[in-house]
Amino acid sequence: NPMADRITDIGPPHYSKFHPPVVAKNKGKWLWHEITQPGVLVHKAESGDECWTVRVGAARLISTELIYEMCDIADAHCDGFLRFTTRNNVEFMVDDKAKVQPLLDDLASRGNKFPVGGTGAGVTNIVHTQGWVHCHTPATDASGVVKAVMDELFDYFTSMKLPAQVRIALACCLNMCGAVHASDIAILGVHRKPPMIDHSRITGVCELPLAISACPLGAVKPAKATVDGKEIKTVKVNNERCMFCGNCYTMCPAMPLADPDGDGIAILVGGKVSNARSAPKFSKLVIPFLPNTPPRWPETVAAVKNILETYAGDAKKYERIGEWAERIGWEKFFEKCNIPFTIKSVDDYRLAYDTWRTTTQFKY
Ligand code: SF4
Ligand code: SF4
Repeated sequence: NPMADRITDIGPPHYSKFHPPVVAKNKGKWLWHEITQPGVLVHKAESGDECWTVRVGAARLISTELIYEMCDIADAHCDGFLRFTTRNNVEFMVDDKAKVQPLLDDLASRGNKFPVGGTGAGVTNIVHTQGWVHCHTPATDASGVVKAVMDELFDYFTSMKLPAQVRIALACCLNMCGAVHASDIAILGVHRKPPMIDHSRITGVCELPLAISACPLGAVKPAKATVDGKEIKTVKVNNERCMFCGNCYTMCPAMPLADPDGDGIAILVGGKVSNARSAPKFSKLVIPFLPNTPPRWPETVAAVKNILETYAGDAKKYERIGEWAERIGWEKFFEKCNIPFTIKSVDDYRLAYDTWRTTTQFKY
């Protein structure tokens, strides 16, 4: 029994406590599912039971007022059950088709707060990371960029008019705690400058051996510096070796590398985790750098929209972005999207001999 001996004041309670009755009853015994309209799914069980799901878009950071309102909707229609997806969609589930329309009407009556969609051949919510407010190594914001992009792509959330699903992801640094390594379109925060060492703080806030061993390229070495007339132990960075990954800063807060001009956004394209039709693919770098331009990031929004709509106008039905690019050839992908091809996009391991700045992402 997974519930036995579970300590519930450390971490969340066991998820099985939150299954709607129809889900708990039919666990592992679902036959098929289909999308009946944008944002509405039905799952059919061996028992004949049905679970109808209405998916609505939400944001990653939301107010308690909005959560209370979601709970009111769940109380009124779904016996108090709802779920959040990893893409920050909220799913309301009911066990009878007759309960779907009243739920949809209720959601629609609340203005634009609960847009229904995010299913099938459309753009669902962007899975994303923490951004400037909540993490220490971001090269761009997360929620702000996502909001700007999704505002522009909103029609693709509420409809299913694309050739296939398009998964967009954002990670605000290349630690990639988002899903950018395998998304149709990936928005990735990148640093372009090495860490700046604060010698006056380093001995107080860092374990020097940790900072040295954190660097995957061996670019951080022990050093000495003079602070207030006293010689101290510190580190130095071989800037030519540094690939601006931020690992050293994770270990040592006196080595920040955030920089207004150095930081920005790279766009990667063509990844997927599904093995339908073709094997899963990693995303490939197609735009090495776009500037950070808060609060609406117009360059990034335009770049994502351009790739999405070029794909939408040219791909065959069911073809994901990576499959489309491979069928027409990546040269044609760059041509059709009007994206300049640069040497930074090439996966050429020989670059590693003298620069250490290479991508393992792209074969051209
Ligand atoms: Fe932090 Fe990087 Fe994750 Fe962004 S992607 S939240 S900066 S670890
Ligand atoms: Fe090494 Fe990365 Fe720090 Fe550069 S940013 S010194 S590559 S750990």
